[in-house]
Amino acid sequence: MVPSVGNEPSNLILEMLPADCRASLCARMETILLPTETVLYRPGESPEYAHFMTSGLTSIAVLMVDGRGPEVGMIGREGVVEGYHLLGPARVPSTGVVRIKGTALRIRFAELQKELDSNQPLRRYILESVQIRGLVGSQVAACNRLHGVEERLARRLLTIEDRIGQPEFYLTHESLSDMIGAQRTTVSLIAEGFQSRGLIEYSRGHIRILNRKGLESVVCECYAIIQKLMLNFGQGAELRGPIPLGVRTNRKASFG
Ligand SMILES: [Zn+2]
Repeated sequence: MVPSVGNEPSNLILEMLPADCRASLCARMETILLPTETVLYRPGESPEYAHFMTSGLTSIAVLMVDGRGPEVGMIGREGVVEGYHLLGPARVPSTGVVRIKGTALRIRFAELQKELDSNQPLRRYILESVQIRGLVGSQVAACNRLHGVEERLARRLLTIEDRIGQPEFYLTHESLSDMIGAQRTTVSLIAEGFQSRGLIEYSRGHIRILNRKGLESVVCECYAIIQKLMLNFGQGAELRGPIPLGVRTNRKASFG
């Protein structure tokens, strides 16, 4: 199956591949549904499959011995969930768990590893996506240390809308507080504040962004840095030759 570059769910890495390369890879993939809380990989384990997200959002969480599990990254249609596993032999200590239900194209992990040895376009886009993930993670680490919960919540909501391409999604209080590294009660208070100012609608985990501009006036500088990294994904054409036709025009749909 070849993912569409039109309105159908698709994965940006796969979209950017030359058509023959994409067809060959996708012929060995299968589409799967990813309900919320599906665990895609566990700490220290070699994954059986690699997942190219086509909709929804997977959260990368670090589980502590006391059971807390703050999110340290998230992957949507721009990435492959097991990207860090592809870089080398180190055991990956995090967990990949679906935060917003969606779909993915999956391939056996060992097969993808083999493919990377011979498929240069795939290799460069996966490396780039993992590089961006690392850079976003650094920005978020600094943000969590220096910026307030209100700014971080605005950043997270805007980033989620960018990643999934729609302003409405479902997230529990617990998920939201894990995502921004704050107490549930604090997150609830700030979410209520956003709601009373007409920025969002928030009811029993259903979140709808009503006023994007309003959230952008609250958010810290980190959002623009993260957004730019995401928008520039695959744009280094001067270094690596032309990007296949259709990718640039679809970019807005991919990242809102
Ligand atoms: Zn920040």
